[in-house]
Amino acid sequence: MIESSCHCGTVKLEIPFAPEEVTDCNCSICRRYGVLWVYYAPSHVRIIATEGATAAYRWGDKSLEFHRCQNCGCVTLKARSLTSGRKIRDRIVRNHRLH
Ligand SMILES: [Zn+2]
Repeated sequence: MIESSCHCGTVKLEIPFAPEEVTDCNCSICRRYGVLWVYYAPSHVRIIATEGATAAYRWGDKSLEFHRCQNCGCVTLKARSLTSGRKIRDRIVRNHRLH
């Protein structure tokens, strides 16, 4: 079990196994966030946070949401936007730097 959280501990993530690959994306937003991404099926990620604990940022075609803790601002994950009509793979992408 891999457990991680934002800096203040408001948002916690539990993953059943360690990642085999980590992605260091160099796109305009990931470079600024300084994140390392690990991709999971949604069923493999348990998100422990109260309602309203995170805020989401959408840009471009708004098909992805970057979630951050409302209290400390740490980027915790990105995921497919549920409000976007665009069909993209449903997965949770966890920020591996949250350890
Ligand atoms: Zn936090």
